[in-house]
Amino acid sequence: MVSKKHVVIIGGGIGGLGLACLLGKKGYKVSLYEKNAKVGGRASVFEKDGFVFDMGPSWYLMPDVFENFFKLLGEDVNEYLKLTKLSPSYRVFFPGDEKYPVLDMYSDLSKDLETFEKLEPGSGEKIKKYLKISGEQYELAKEKFMYRNYNSIFDFLQKDFLKEGLRMNPFQTMESYLNKWFSDDRLKKILEYTLVFLGSAPDKTPALYNMMNFIDFDMGVYYPDGGIYKVIEALENIAKKYDVHIHTSSPIKEILSEKGIAKGVRTESDEFIYADFVVSNADMNFTEMNLIKDDSQRTYNEKYWNKAVMGPSAFILFLGLSRKVDSLTHHNLRFSQDWKKNFKEVFDNPKFPDDPSYYVSCPSKSDPSVAPAGKETLFVLVPVASHLSFTDVQKKEYRDKVIAMMKKDLDIADLEEIIEYESMYTHEEFKADYNAFGGTALGLAHTLKQTILRPNNKSKHIKNLFYVGAGTNPGIGMPICLISSELAYKRIEGIKHPNPLKEL
Ligand SMILES: Cc1cc2nc3c(=O)[nH]c(=O)nc-3n(C[C@H](O)[C@H](O)[C@H](O)COP(=O)(O)OP(=O)(O)OC[C@H]3O[C@@H](n4cnc5c(N)ncnc54)[C@H](O)[C@@H]3O)c2cc1C
Repeated sequence: MVSKKHVVIIGGGIGGLGLACLLGKKGYKVSLYEKNAKVGGRASVFEKDGFVFDMGPSWYLMPDVFENFFKLLGEDVNEYLKLTKLSPSYRVFFPGDEKYPVLDMYSDLSKDLETFEKLEPGSGEKIKKYLKISGEQYELAKEKFMYRNYNSIFDFLQKDFLKEGLRMNPFQTMESYLNKWFSDDRLKKILEYTLVFLGSAPDKTPALYNMMNFIDFDMGVYYPDGGIYKVIEALENIAKKYDVHIHTSSPIKEILSEKGIAKGVRTESDEFIYADFVVSNADMNFTEMNLIKDDSQRTYNEKYWNKAVMGPSAFILFLGLSRKVDSLTHHNLRFSQDWKKNFKEVFDNPKFPDDPSYYVSCPSKSDPSVAPAGKETLFVLVPVASHLSFTDVQKKEYRDKVIAMMKKDLDIADLEEIIEYESMYTHEEFKADYNAFGGTALGLAHTLKQTILRPNNKSKHIKNLFYVGAGTNPGIGMPICLISSELAYKRIEGIKHPNPLKEL
C-alpha cells in the first residue's frame, strides 16, 4: 500500500480549514495546528451572558464562491447553512445631511435606483451601465485571474493575459474611475465603502475592484442563521469527516527545512512533526519573519515589510444592550463627512480619526438566537491605522468619543445607560490572537502593487512550503480565502490550469 502524503497546515483560519477539507477529501493525511483554543482565526466567535459576538467578518458576500467551494467538496452549502438574503442589505447614516440623513440600500435595483436618483438625478441609468460593466469584470476575474497560480512576472506579460487584464481597468484608481461616472459625494461614498473590505482606500485601490459594487448591489448581502461562525463549524465538520487531525491550542514555532526542502514543523512544546508538505495559514509576515529562522530562506524579508502597505486595524466595541434599538437594521454604516481626511488618517497620517466612518452590526435584528429575548447584540467597528500606538487612557477616551457619536448619529440617546455587556478589541488583541503584523485586522492592503504582486503562495527558497489565506493570492475576505485554499491545493497536486476546479 502506498503511504499517504502528509501535509501539515499551520493555522485554522478559513483558508487553512478550506485547504484541510480539500486535501482530506483527496486522501492526504492532514494535520492542522492552530495556536488558539478553537479554529476560525479572524472569523472567531464568543458568547457572554447570551450575547453572541462574531469577532471578525459579519458580511456573507459572494455566495457563488461559497456554493462552488462546497460543491467541490461534494457538499451542498444549504445543508450546512441556513442563508437569508438581508433586506435592506444595509442602512447608511449621513450625519449632518439635512435632506437624506438615513438611507436604506436593498441590493434590489428596483428600489436602489430610486435612491440613487434622489441623490443625483440621472444617475439611475448610469448606475445600470456601471453595474453591467462591473458584473462583466467580476465574471472575467473569476474566469481568468482569481483561480490562477502565478509563477513569475512573465505570467502577466502574456498577450492574452495583458489583453484581458487591461479590460479590468487596473491603472485607474477607484476614486478617479468613480469621478468619471458620478458627481454626488454621498453616492460615491456608497460605492466606495466596500473598499474597506479590501483594507484599502479609494485613491490607492485599482478600479478593477469596481466589481465589489456588483457583488454588493447585484448579488446581495447574506446572513447564515446563528452567525458567521457557522461557516467555520461547517468546514470543521467536513474536515473531521475526512479525518483531518485538528490540534487546537498548539502554536507552531518553526518551519523545518533541509537542503531547501520543507520537512515539517516544530511546535511550541518542541515536538517535531515531519511532513511532505507544509502550508502556512498564519499571517504572512509572521510566517516569513518568525517561523522561518534562516533569513536567507525568506521570500519576503524585513525590507519588504518596511515598505508594505498594511490594511487597517480595527477599533472594536462588543456591546450587549438591555433593550431593542429601533433606529438600526442588521448592517449599519455611518460615513464620515470629510471622507478623504478620514482615509488619510487611516493610511497616510496614522491617528485615531477625528470624525471616523464606522460600522455597526446588529445581528439580533435578523437572528433572535444571538441575543437574550428583548435585547440587542452590537458589534461596532471603526477602521483605524495599523501600527498605531496609544495608551489605555487614549483608548478609553476614543471609546467615549465613539459612544457619544453613536448616541447622536444613530439616535440612541440613552446608549450609555443600556449597555449591559461591553468589551474592547483592537491592535494588541489582533497581535496576541493572530500574530497580526502591526495589529492589522485584514493584512496586506489591495493596492495595485499588492494585488498584482501579492506574496505568492509558494516559497521561493523552500520547496514544498506553501501559503494560504488573506496574505497571499487572491487576498482578503472569507470567500477569497476559500479561493486561496483551492490555489494551494493546486500547488500540492501540481495542477497547472488557471480555471476554477470542477472536481478534486
Ligand atoms: C474585524 C474584521 C471584519 C471583517 N469583515 C469581513 C466580512 O464582513 N466579510 C468577509 O468576507 N471578510 C471579512 N473580514 C476578512 C476575513 O475575516 C479574513 O480575510 C479571513 O477570515 C482571513 O482568513 P485566513 O485564512 O487568512 O486566516 P486567519 O483568520 O488570519 O487565521 C490564521 C490562523 O493562524 C493561526 N496562527 C497564527 N500563528 C500561528 C502559529 N504560530 N501556530 C499555529 N497557528 C497560528 C491564528 O491563530 C489564526 O487562527 C474581516 C476581518 C476582520 C478582522
